[in-house]
Amino acid sequence: MLLGYNEATSMKRSTLEEDLKYVKKYGYDCIELRMDKMDVFLETHTLDELIKLIGSTGVQPYAINSLEHVNLNTPEEFEVIKKEFMRMCQRADQLNCRMIVVVPSIIDNTVPKEEVLEDSVKCLNDFADIAEKYNVKVAYEYMGFSKCSVNTFSQCYEIIRKVDRENVGMVLDCFHFHASGSNIEDLLNANAEKIFTLHVDDAADLPLCDLDDSKRLWPGDGVIKLNEILGALKRIRYDKVATVELFNPDYWEWDTEKIVRTGYIKTKKVVEGYYI
Ligand code: ZN
Repeated sequence: MLLGYNEATSMKRSTLEEDLKYVKKYGYDCIELRMDKMDVFLETHTLDELIKLIGSTGVQPYAINSLEHVNLNTPEEFEVIKKEFMRMCQRADQLNCRMIVVVPSIIDNTVPKEEVLEDSVKCLNDFADIAEKYNVKVAYEYMGFSKCSVNTFSQCYEIIRKVDRENVGMVLDCFHFHASGSNIEDLLNANAEKIFTLHVDDAADLPLCDLDDSKRLWPGDGVIKLNEILGALKRIRYDKVATVELFNPDYWEWDTEKIVRTGYIKTKKVVEGYYI
C-alpha cells in the first residue's frame, strides 16, 4: 500500500511548493494534487516549472482533486463542466498523473435514485470518453451527506458497475463511508478493482446528521471504525494507495510542516497494521 497526502489537508495557509517540500521530506509515496493550488502556482510560473517541481520531488502525482457538482446539470451547465474536466485531463497528462476525482451534486432529496443513477452513468461515460484520450482514469467520490445525490457506498458502486468501463471507478473516503452509515457488507462484496483510491481520515463523536467536512479528525483520533474498513479492504485485496485527506479548519491554522508530518505519522499508524 502506498501512502498519499491530499492537499486539502493543508488547504488554507499552504502552497503547492510547501506541500511538496514536506511531502517529500516525510516520505509519502504520492500526492493528490488540488487544481486550485496548481493554478495559483501557474500565475507566476510556467507549466514547465510545474512539471519540473513535481518531478524533482520523486513523489508520484496520483490524482487531481476535484471536479464538483458533476451530475444532474442542465445540458448547458454540463458543457461547462466538461470543459473544465478536459482542462484537468490535459493538466494530468502533462504531469503524468493518471486520475481525476469527480464529485456528485448536492441537491434536494426530490430526485429519484433511478434518475440519479441514469444521469450519473451518462456523465461518467462522457468523462470516460474524454479521459481515454489522455490515458486518465475517473474516480467518482460520493459524499455521505443526506443532500448529496450519491451518498452511500452501495449507490456509488452500483453506478460504477453500470458504467462498467476500465477507466471509471470510485473513491472510498472513510469519513463519507461513516457519515452515510454505509454497510461494511457492501464493501466486502465489492470488487477492489473498482476502488481507485482510499481517503483516510476520522470523525468527531457526533450524530451522523451533524457531521460535515470540518469535523474530520486525524486517523485514529475519532470514532470511525477504521479497523473494520481496512480489514474489509485487505480481505477484498485492495492494495493501491491510502491518502490522508482532511478539511478541518483547526488544522489549517497549523504550520504546513506540522500538518504534513502529523498526517504521515497518524495515517501510517492506522494503515500499517494491515498493509505496511
Ligand atoms: Zn475524499
